Amino acid sequence: MEYINIRSFDNYIPAHIASGRLEEEGINCWLKDENTVTIDPILTNAIGGIKLMVDARQAERAADILRKLESEHRKLTPCPRCHSQNIDYVSTPRKAGNWFSALWGFLTLSYAMPVEKVFHCFDCGHEYVAEENRDATNE
Ligand SMILES: [Zn+2]
Repeated sequence: MEYINIRSFDNYIPAHIASGRLEEEGINCWLKDENTVTIDPILTNAIGGIKLMVDARQAERAADILRKLESEHRKLTPCPRCHSQNIDYVSTPRKAGNWFSALWGFLTLSYAMPVEKVFHCFDCGHEYVAEENRDATNE
Protein backbone atom coordinates (compact mmCIF):
# COMPACT_ATOMS: atom_id res chain seq x y z
CA MET A 1 0.00 0.00 0.00
CA GLU A 2 1.34 3.42 -0.92
CA TYR A 3 1.11 6.36 1.48
CA ILE A 4 1.58 10.01 0.64
CA ASN A 5 2.09 13.08 2.81
CA ILE A 6 -0.92 15.42 2.52
CA ARG A 7 -0.27 17.76 5.47
CA SER A 8 2.50 18.70 7.87
CA PHE A 9 2.00 19.95 11.41
CA ASP A 10 4.31 21.80 13.83
CA ASN A 11 2.39 20.48 16.77
CA TYR A 12 1.05 17.07 17.71
CA ILE A 13 -2.36 18.32 18.89
CA PRO A 14 -3.76 19.44 15.50
CA ALA A 15 -1.98 16.45 13.92
CA HIS A 16 -3.93 14.09 16.18
CA ILE A 17 -7.20 15.93 15.63
CA ALA A 18 -6.71 15.61 11.84
CA SER A 19 -5.66 11.95 11.88
CA GLY A 20 -8.44 11.08 14.33
CA ARG A 21 -11.02 12.64 12.04
CA LEU A 22 -9.67 10.79 9.01
CA GLU A 23 -9.77 7.48 10.87
CA GLU A 24 -13.41 8.11 11.80
CA GLU A 25 -14.11 8.54 8.09
CA GLY A 26 -12.42 5.23 7.28
CA ILE A 27 -9.22 6.69 5.82
CA ASN A 28 -6.02 4.70 6.34
CA CYS A 29 -3.53 7.14 7.82
CA TRP A 30 -0.65 7.52 10.25
CA LEU A 31 1.64 10.24 11.59
CA LYS A 32 5.25 10.21 10.51
CA ASP A 33 8.02 11.69 12.69
CA GLU A 34 5.54 12.18 15.52
CA ASN A 35 7.91 10.86 18.18
CA THR A 36 10.79 13.01 17.03
CA VAL A 37 8.65 16.13 17.18
CA THR A 38 7.10 15.34 20.55
CA ILE A 39 10.39 14.50 22.23
CA ASP A 40 12.42 17.27 20.68
CA PRO A 41 10.20 20.14 19.49
CA ILE A 42 13.24 22.26 18.68
CA LEU A 43 14.01 19.86 15.84
CA THR A 44 10.48 20.12 14.46
CA ASN A 45 11.31 22.72 11.86
CA ALA A 46 14.49 20.93 10.85
CA ILE A 47 12.66 17.75 9.90
CA GLY A 48 9.59 19.47 8.47
CA GLY A 49 7.10 18.78 11.25
CA ILE A 50 4.77 15.86 11.83
CA LYS A 51 3.67 14.45 8.49
CA LEU A 52 0.17 13.13 8.01
CA MET A 53 0.46 10.15 5.68
CA VAL A 54 -2.62 8.76 3.95
CA ASP A 55 -3.34 5.90 1.60
CA ALA A 56 -2.65 7.32 -1.86
CA ARG A 57 -5.97 5.98 -3.19
CA GLN A 58 -7.86 7.91 -0.48
CA ALA A 59 -5.81 11.12 -0.64
CA GLU A 60 -8.40 13.15 -2.48
CA ARG A 61 -11.16 12.25 -0.04
CA ALA A 62 -8.80 12.84 2.88
CA ALA A 63 -8.01 16.34 1.58
CA ASP A 64 -11.74 17.09 1.37
CA ILE A 65 -12.27 15.93 4.95
CA LEU A 66 -9.38 18.08 6.15
CA ARG A 67 -10.73 21.12 4.32
CA LYS A 68 -14.07 20.58 6.02
CA LEU A 69 -12.37 20.14 9.40
CA GLU A 70 -10.41 23.35 8.90
CA SER A 71 -13.47 25.35 7.93
CA GLU A 72 -15.33 24.00 10.99
CA HIS A 73 -12.38 25.02 13.08
CA ARG A 74 -12.48 28.49 11.56
CA LYS A 75 -16.11 28.90 12.63
CA LEU A 76 -15.14 27.96 16.18
CA THR A 77 -12.36 30.52 16.18
CA PRO A 78 -13.72 33.80 14.78
CA CYS A 79 -11.64 36.94 15.04
CA PRO A 80 -11.87 38.10 18.68
CA ARG A 81 -11.70 41.73 17.59
CA CYS A 82 -14.29 41.94 14.78
CA HIS A 83 -15.86 38.41 14.90
CA SER A 84 -15.12 37.85 11.23
CA GLN A 85 -14.71 34.27 9.98
CA ASN A 86 -12.68 35.54 7.04
CA ILE A 87 -9.52 34.18 8.61
CA ASP A 88 -6.71 31.83 7.79
CA TYR A 89 -4.18 29.78 9.71
CA VAL A 90 -0.74 31.18 8.88
CA SER A 91 2.83 30.62 9.92
CA THR A 92 4.48 33.54 11.58
CA PRO A 93 8.07 33.95 12.68
CA ARG A 94 8.41 33.30 16.38
CA LYS A 95 8.40 36.76 17.91
CA ALA A 96 11.28 36.28 20.34
CA GLY A 97 12.85 33.84 17.92
CA ASN A 98 15.96 32.64 19.66
CA TRP A 99 17.33 29.73 21.61
CA PHE A 100 16.19 31.25 24.89
CA SER A 101 12.48 31.25 24.01
CA ALA A 102 12.85 27.72 22.67
CA LEU A 103 14.51 26.59 25.88
CA TRP A 104 12.00 28.46 28.03
CA GLY A 105 9.14 26.82 26.12
CA PHE A 106 10.74 23.45 26.63
CA LEU A 107 11.22 23.97 30.37
CA THR A 108 7.68 25.21 30.93
CA LEU A 109 6.17 22.57 28.61
CA SER A 110 4.52 25.38 26.68
CA TYR A 111 6.09 24.06 23.49
CA ALA A 112 2.83 22.16 23.06
CA MET A 113 1.12 25.48 22.40
CA PRO A 114 0.90 26.56 18.76
CA VAL A 115 3.21 29.53 19.19
CA GLU A 116 4.36 29.64 15.60
CA LYS A 117 1.01 29.42 13.87
CA VAL A 118 -1.60 32.10 14.24
CA PHE A 119 -4.95 32.98 12.77
CA HIS A 120 -4.86 36.07 10.60
CA CYS A 121 -8.04 38.10 10.15
CA PHE A 122 -8.36 39.46 6.62
CA ASP A 123 -11.01 41.98 7.65
CA CYS A 124 -9.21 43.86 10.41
CA GLY A 125 -5.67 42.45 10.21
CA HIS A 126 -5.72 41.12 13.78
CA GLU A 127 -3.58 38.05 14.50
CA TYR A 128 -4.29 35.65 17.33
CA VAL A 129 -3.33 32.22 18.59
CA ALA A 130 -5.83 29.39 18.27
CA GLU A 131 -6.93 27.46 21.32
CA GLU A 132 -5.92 24.01 20.11
CA ASN A 133 -5.81 22.56 23.61
CA ARG A 134 -9.51 23.00 24.04
CA ASP A 135 -10.13 20.41 21.33
CA ALA A 136 -7.61 17.97 22.71
CA THR A 137 -9.20 17.81 26.16
CA ASN A 138 -12.60 16.90 24.72
CA GLU A 139 -11.47 13.61 23.32
ZN1 LIG B 1 -10.86 40.81 12.65
